[in-house]
Amino acid sequence: MIETIYIEKKIKNHPRTKFILNKFKKSRLLEIDKYTEIFNKRSQNFRIQKANPNLILAHKNDGFVLPAPEGFGIGSSENFYFSHMFNCIYDCRYCFLQGMFSSANYVIFVNFEDFDISIKNVINKNINSKITFFSGYDCDSLALENVTGFAKHILPLFKQYPEVDIEFRTKSIQREPFMSIEPMKNVIMAYSLMPDLMSSSLDNKVPSISKRIKVISDLASKGWKIGLRFDPLIYGQDWKFLYENLLEKVYNSIPLESIHSVSVGPLRFPKKMFKDIFKLYPKEPLFTGPLSNSKDIISYDMKIEEEMSVFCKNLTLKYLDNSQFFRCFA
Ligand code: SF4
Repeated sequence: MIETIYIEKKIKNHPRTKFILNKFKKSRLLEIDKYTEIFNKRSQNFRIQKANPNLILAHKNDGFVLPAPEGFGIGSSENFYFSHMFNCIYDCRYCFLQGMFSSANYVIFVNFEDFDISIKNVINKNINSKITFFSGYDCDSLALENVTGFAKHILPLFKQYPEVDIEFRTKSIQREPFMSIEPMKNVIMAYSLMPDLMSSSLDNKVPSISKRIKVISDLASKGWKIGLRFDPLIYGQDWKFLYENLLEKVYNSIPLESIHSVSVGPLRFPKKMFKDIFKLYPKEPLFTGPLSNSKDIISYDMKIEEEMSVFCKNLTLKYLDNSQFFRCFA
């Protein structure tokens, strides 16, 4: 239940605003000039707000498509991301959004058509390069699909550009619009996974790993390409046993030919972000584990990162080709 919805005056009559408001008939509606007056307010507490976030409907003015951070990619030479939304309905303890934004309120930018224009511009400027777009870097790309309809909106655009890849990265078990349309070869349905034991204490409000594997299996059977994202890798007692179980389970649950790529990523935070997140959850065991500080990045020791990545890679190579495995550092 969303108690209050703030609506920028500029988009109050936008058809998508009306479409979204129709789903929240009991919410209190308040008009505002700019989303930033609510979202960027000082002295907000992300943790308190996260218990009961409000929704902000806004117009995005710029920065529709941005270059992906260095070290983020699955084989293309050019990588870009876009976010139709800020923040997430889930509450993963390691989520970088809680250190990036001061507000836990959800912002949905309703002017999807401006994303379309920017995506096309980027494609035209990089016509000779292999491009991957990542949807939803500042949110979960599909968790609120039944409210926003963003994937449903953007898929037809990518149908026009079969040589350009788009990845929807999610922890949701959202099946639509994907189960109702024909699979597209340039779409990667990417799922973030970690062993059940870790997920049940860190992936708050997120569908269980077994539910995620079921959806992966259903989408793969329908013909969609799957990305497996073991990111972040979480260190702990019995991590080898737990990751081995998880990887074996996944590789034995879905048709291997449906797997587009597998990536692993370390648990890493810029120092300032780590400080802010630590302040929110000072008793969280994840943040008091064997983390080290090097070059202003808080992460596991390089030796641990390396050992975990190599372990997952070796297990993966029992099933897949080396060219399908990636290490991400962003
Ligand atoms: S699903 Fe992703 S975006 Fe959402 S809370 Fe978890 S880590 Fe953050």
